[in-house]
Amino acid sequence: MTKQRTLSIIKPDATSRNLVGKILSHFEEAGLTIVAARMMTLTPEQAGQFYIIHKDRPFYGELIDYMVSGRALVSVLEGDDAVNLNRKLMGATDPKKADAGTIRNLYAESIAANAVHGSDSAENAATEIKFFFPELA
Ligand code: ATP
Ligand code: MG
Repeated sequence: MTKQRTLSIIKPDATSRNLVGKILSHFEEAGLTIVAARMMTLTPEQAGQFYIIHKDRPFYGELIDYMVSGRALVSVLEGDDAVNLNRKLMGATDPKKADAGTIRNLYAESIAANAVHGSDSAENAATEIKFFFPELA
């Protein structure tokens, strides 16, 4: 398996509860290496563009308000099958449906405030990494 990169965001609900270290440990213990990271407060423009795919969904406005509500740790994770591995570590979008031991099962508050984002395909990973870390492209 060749090395792959994926984009992760530790979302404002998790940074505000001091869960950054615990969540990063899940990635590292699963064999993913953090190759770039930036703590930032997203602007409404950045959050709106990042989640533009959801612009017609009823929760879009709420999602943008939430993503700009505090600090987010944006990072690039690298390892074998990084995109799928990260999605497995995250668990289902709705924490009530997330498998035991996954990040969302352990730390998410709700389907909206669900602790982490992860790219859902290799193609989207490339786009998302370029969005936040153009110097890596
Ligand atoms: P992400 O893209 O953040 O990794 P995901 O791929 O698991 O999450 P998506 O369907 O892409 O899920 O939804 C993007 C984000 O929008 C979710 O992570 C969550 O924060 C929010 N969201 C999704 N569904 C709902 C909903 N029904 N109500 C409120 N917020 C939602
Ligand atoms: Mg998604």
